[in-house]
Amino acid sequence: MTVKTEVKTYLNYVNGEWVPSLDNVVEASINPANKEDIVGYVQKSGAGDLEKAVTAAKQAQQAWRKLSAPARGEFLYQVANAMEKRLDEIAETMTREMGKTFAEAKGETARGIAILRYYAGEGMRKVGDVIPSTDSEGLMFTTRAPLGVVGVITPWNFPVAIPIWKMAPALVYGNVVVFKPAQEVAVTAAKIIECMDAAGLPAGVVNLVTGPGSVIGQGIIDHPDINGITFTGSDTVGKRVGLGALARGAKYQLEMGGKNPVIVADDADLDLAVEATISGGLRSTGQKCTATSRVLIQGGVYEAFKQKLLARVAQLSIGDGMQSTTWMGPCASENQLKTVLSYIEKGKAEGATLLYGGSRLTANGLDRGFFVEPTIFEDVTSDMVISQEEIFGPVLALIRVDTLEQAIELANDVQYGLSASIFTKNIANILSFVGEIEAGLVRINAESAGVELQAPFGGMKQSSSHSREQGQAAIEFFTSIKTVFIKP
Ligand code: NAD
Repeated sequence: MTVKTEVKTYLNYVNGEWVPSLDNVVEASINPANKEDIVGYVQKSGAGDLEKAVTAAKQAQQAWRKLSAPARGEFLYQVANAMEKRLDEIAETMTREMGKTFAEAKGETARGIAILRYYAGEGMRKVGDVIPSTDSEGLMFTTRAPLGVVGVITPWNFPVAIPIWKMAPALVYGNVVVFKPAQEVAVTAAKIIECMDAAGLPAGVVNLVTGPGSVIGQGIIDHPDINGITFTGSDTVGKRVGLGALARGAKYQLEMGGKNPVIVADDADLDLAVEATISGGLRSTGQKCTATSRVLIQGGVYEAFKQKLLARVAQLSIGDGMQSTTWMGPCASENQLKTVLSYIEKGKAEGATLLYGGSRLTANGLDRGFFVEPTIFEDVTSDMVISQEEIFGPVLALIRVDTLEQAIELANDVQYGLSASIFTKNIANILSFVGEIEAGLVRINAESAGVELQAPFGGMKQSSSHSREQGQAAIEFFTSIKTVFIKP
C-alpha cells in the first residue's frame, strides 16, 4: 500500500533545523504526469540562505571529522533504516515529482538504501598503506584527510540514488555537506534529509538549500569556504562548475552527459539485444545518462533486429507511473518534453527516417502531462545532430554497419564516452570492443544502463571529469592523501 503525499510546504534544512528561505519565497513542484497535481511547495532560496548553510557546515566540520569513521558509518546505517521504513512513500514522491514508474522509483530508493549501507561498511575499511622507506629506522605510510565542506549539486533524473551516492561517501570520509538538488525534485530531496534528521545526524553536518541553479548552484561554485564540489548534470553546467572551482582552487568532480551506443553483431542473440535496447533506451523515458541512444547493427541482422524492435516497442504502455500497468512514464518536465520534440523535428529535417512514434501523446487524459511516444529513427548518419547530441528522451537512432571495426569507429565518433554495449557471442569481437571502445562503462551482452553500486562509475572524454564515483573509487574525490614519514 502506498502513502499519499500530503501537499505541504517543504523547508530548507540548515544547522539541524527546518527553516523557510530568508525571503520566504516558495514554488510548486508539480507532477509531470498531471500538471494539476501539486506534489509540494519548495523553497526558492537566495544567496543569504546558502551563506547560512555554509557557515553551519563549516562549524560542524571539526567535530564530525574527529568522530571515528566507524561511528560516522553507524549514522549511515541509521539513515538507511529510516529510509527503509519510508521506502514506498519516498518512491511515490519520486514518481509524482519526475515521472518514472513506481516500480523504478522503488528500485532506486532501495538502491539508495543499499548505497548507505555500503558506505557505512566503508567506515571500517583501511584508508592508507605502509610504504617501504629507504631509511630503515623510519616508518612511511599514507593516511587520508577529508576535504572539509563539500557542495553536492544533483540533477532530477535520479533524485535519490545520485544525492546518496555523493553524500554517503562524503560523510563517511569525514566531510560535511551543503546539498543543492534539482528544483524539480526538491520534495524528494527533503524526504532524504528527513531520514537523516530522524537518524540523529548532528546539526550542520548536512544542510539542504533548494533553489535556482543560477543562484544556489552558482553560489556553491563561487563560495570560498566550499572545499570540494561534486556535480552531476548537463555538460553545459558541468563545465561551469569545473572552470569556477578551478579558478579558486577547489576540488571538483563532474558526471555529465552520454550518447551511449549499443552494437548488435551478426552473431548476437537478437531477443536479448532487443530487450536490452528497449530497456536501456526507453526505461525512465530515456532520461538516464547511461541510456542507449544509438544502435549500430551489422547488415546480416539489421532487418531482423529492426522488425523485432518495432514489434516490442509497440507493446509498451505509456501513462502515469503510479499505475501498475505503465511501462514508461512522461518526460520529467515541460521543458524536457519540448527538448525531446525539437530533437525529433531535427532528426526529420536532417533526413533520418522516422520508423516509430515521433509525437506528443495527448489522448486519454495524457494531455495533462508531458508524454511523448517512444521514437525510433533509421537511416541515421554520424554527422546528424540526433547522432551527436544528448537528447535525454525515449529516442533511438538505428545505424546500419558492415563490420565491427566500422561499428566501433562510429560508436566512438561523439564527444561523450560514458557507457557502451555490444551483443555478440564471439570472444574476438568482445576483446576488440573492450580494447577499442571509448567508454568508462563497457558492457558485454548487457544493456548500457545499470552499473552495480560497488563498482566505479563514470565516463571518458566529455562525459566525466576527475575521479570515479561509487564503490571504493569514491574515496579518491572525497579525501586528500597525506604521506607521512616518522623518524623515531
Ligand atoms: P542541469 O545541468 O540542468 O542541472 C544539474 C544541477 O545543476 C541542478 O541542480 C541545477 O539546478 C544545477 N545548476 C543549473 N545551473 C547551474 C549553474 N549555473 N551553476 C551551478 N549549478 C547549476 O542537468 P539536469 O537537466 O538536472 O539533468 C540532466 C543532465 O544530467 C543530463 O545531461 C544527464 O546526462 C546528466 N546526468 C549525468 C549523469 C552521470 O552520472 N554522468 C547522471 C545523471 C544525469
